[in-house]
Amino acid sequence: MVQITSPLGFLGTVYREIRQSLVDMAEMFNLLDQPSEVTDKPDAKELKVTRGEITLDDVRFSYDPEREVLKGVSLTISAGQTVAIVGPSGSGKSTISRLLFRFYDVSGGAIRIDGQDLRDVTQASLHAAIGVVPQDTVLFNDTIRYNIAYGRDGASEDEIVEAAKAAQIHDFILRLPDGYDTQVGERGLKLSGGEKQRVGIARTLLKNPPILMLDEATSALDTETERGIQEALVHAAQGRTVLTIAHRLSTIADADLIVVLQDGEIVERGTHNDLLAQDGRYASLWRRQAAEAQDAA
Ligand code: ADP
Ligand code: MG
Repeated sequence: MVQITSPLGFLGTVYREIRQSLVDMAEMFNLLDQPSEVTDKPDAKELKVTRGEITLDDVRFSYDPEREVLKGVSLTISAGQTVAIVGPSGSGKSTISRLLFRFYDVSGGAIRIDGQDLRDVTQASLHAAIGVVPQDTVLFNDTIRYNIAYGRDGASEDEIVEAAKAAQIHDFILRLPDGYDTQVGERGLKLSGGEKQRVGIARTLLKNPPILMLDEATSALDTETERGIQEALVHAAQGRTVLTIAHRLSTIADADLIVVLQDGEIVERGTHNDLLAQDGRYASLWRRQAAEAQDAA
C-alpha cells in the first residue's frame, strides 16, 4: 500500500491541487513515482461539466506499438447513468479508466465529456470532475477527520460527518477511543480493508464530483463487508455519472448498462436482463459466479 506522510499545512493552494491530483492518481494506479505522460495544451480550457455525459468514440490504445489493447471501443455513458464494464482479466477494463482520467492519451478516436475532448481541457479541471473510489485507499498518518476532510479543502465539520454517514463509517468512528480525532494510518490505528474503503468513499463524497469511477472497488472484500460498501456506493452514485469496473457481477446487476469487454473490444452490451436473455458470455459468467456463491454458502 502507498503511504504518504502528513503533508505540511503551510503549502499553498497550488501545491494542494497538485498533491490532490497525485493522490487521486496514486490511489488509482498504486503509483506515486510514475510521471503522467500527458501535458496540458498551451490553450487548454477548463472542463465544464454541464450534464456529465461521457462518450468514447472508436477509442484505440496501445501501451506498446506492437500490441493494441483497445481496438475501437465506442460507448456513451449518459448523464446520471451507471455503466459497468466487465470482462476477463487483461481485456482492457482498467485501461479505459486510465484513459478517462487522461493518464494516457488515446492512440485513435476520442473521449469526450459533455462534448469536450479530454485533450483540449486542463488536467486539473478534469481530475477535479472525477472522483475515484480505488481498490486501495491511501491513509495519512493523521486523524480520521483529516483523512476524510482531505477530499475537499475547507470542508466543515457538518459536511465531514455527513460524508462519513453516507459512506457508512460514522458509527464506527464514534466507537473509536477519540472519535474523529483518532489517529489512523501506519503509526496509528490500523483500519481493515473495508474500513479504509469507506474512508475513501467518504473522501470522494466530500469532493462531490459529477463523475465517479470505481475500479474493482469491492473485489478484495468479504461478502458482508461488500454489502455495506455497496450501500455506500449506491448513495455515492446518486445524481452522478458512474463508470464501474467489477469482478463480481452481483454488484453491478442494477447498472443502467453493462458492457462486456474481451481482448479490447466490446462483445456484448445491454442491461443485466438483456444479457441473460442473449445467453452469451455474460450469461455464462453470471451462471458460473452464481454457482460459486452457492458453493461458498
Ligand atoms: P483489465 O483491467 O481488464 O484486467 P488492463 O486494462 O489492466 O486489463 O490491461 C489490458 C492489457 O494491457 C493487458 O494485456 C495488460 O497486460 C496490458 N497493460 C496494462 N498496463 C500496461 C502497461 N503499463 N504497460 C504495458 N502493458 C500494459
Ligand atoms: Mg483491471
